[in-house]
Amino acid sequence: MSIRVPTVKKLDQTVVNRIAAGEVIQRPSNALKELIENSLDAGSTKIDVQVKDGGLKLLQIQDNGHGIRKEDMAIVCERFTTSKLNRFEDLTGIATHGFRGEALASISHVAHVMITTKIADSPCAYKALYSDGKLIPAKPGQSADPKACAGNNGTQIIAEDLFYNVPTRKKAFKSISEEYNRILDIVSRYAIHNSGVSFTCIKKGSNVPDVKTSTGATIVENIRLLHGSVASELLSIDREFDSLGFKMTGYISNANYSVKKMTFLLFINHRSVENSSIKRAIENIYAMLLPKGAHPFVYLSLEIDPKNVDVNVHPTKKEVHFLHEDRITGAVCDAFQEALENANHSRTFYTQT
Ligand code: ADP
Ligand code: MG
Repeated sequence: MSIRVPTVKKLDQTVVNRIAAGEVIQRPSNALKELIENSLDAGSTKIDVQVKDGGLKLLQIQDNGHGIRKEDMAIVCERFTTSKLNRFEDLTGIATHGFRGEALASISHVAHVMITTKIADSPCAYKALYSDGKLIPAKPGQSADPKACAGNNGTQIIAEDLFYNVPTRKKAFKSISEEYNRILDIVSRYAIHNSGVSFTCIKKGSNVPDVKTSTGATIVENIRLLHGSVASELLSIDREFDSLGFKMTGYISNANYSVKKMTFLLFINHRSVENSSIKRAIENIYAMLLPKGAHPFVYLSLEIDPKNVDVNVHPTKKEVHFLHEDRITGAVCDAFQEALENANHSRTFYTQT
């Protein structure tokens, strides 16, 4: 009996790109995180987000950053096109959120994208439509080139019908409100971390924003706005460890405060990330202070020497690895413990006088 041996073929480029896009953009909130980071990289001080159907129908972001040159508009949505990285070695000193040049490309492979952008030197804005990484005409037969239009300095990116061409992914989203909550979560995190930047997030058609911060507000004011009364129960953390090449700042709830589920806003080198070992260590500290089932609020920003951080472990950059992880986690624990103990002492001190 002869066995049929399948032939090996190279995948079509569009298929490759769509598979890759699915890794970077798993849900609307991932796409929005990338777009927010691009706006921040562009030096924006105002970022306005509009969303329809949890971001699946529409994600729109408007910023007042440096904009994109007209000449670059043809390639911004191609894979691996970036203004932020030249050489592999530069990864060790990367100071921007982005560097892979994959976000816009990925979004354009799973959504209809429109970019309108104006740089300060240009008398007008330019608008272009994209599909599968490339410029496309607004109507068949028309030119795909960016068109001059009116607009303010900065960039507006609209992504519509997310996953229109990935039906299995699209079907997997059971709840629009859950997707919207994830979007609000990501906007709130970046709004708290970037207190010099004003953020709004609104459902398209509504006139009441669900997130609205102002440029002059402090981190604590933004925490109050977005997380309420915990803002009155915060201890400040601010420590630098030269030997480990890292610095931590943050605000953590004191032992008087607790919630049913831990709120953990973690930033490593200004990117919102997750790190289960740091999270577990912090939970253990609070477990000794809080009643069973009670959890803290923690906003923690770690700035780690970029040469000790590997941001390139996952396409979404959600997970990062860094050198001296155990020692850094230990240092975080010490700082928390000290802050919580000091607060405790000052409380007993006040009650005694
Ligand atoms: P990366 O951020 O990794 O460079 P992206 O695909 O996210 O890759 O973006 C590609 C490029 O498009 C960026 O390097 C930047 O030059 C430009 N760009 C994207 N978004 C904006 C924005 N909001 N303002 C200005 N430039 C932008
Ligand atoms: Mg980017």
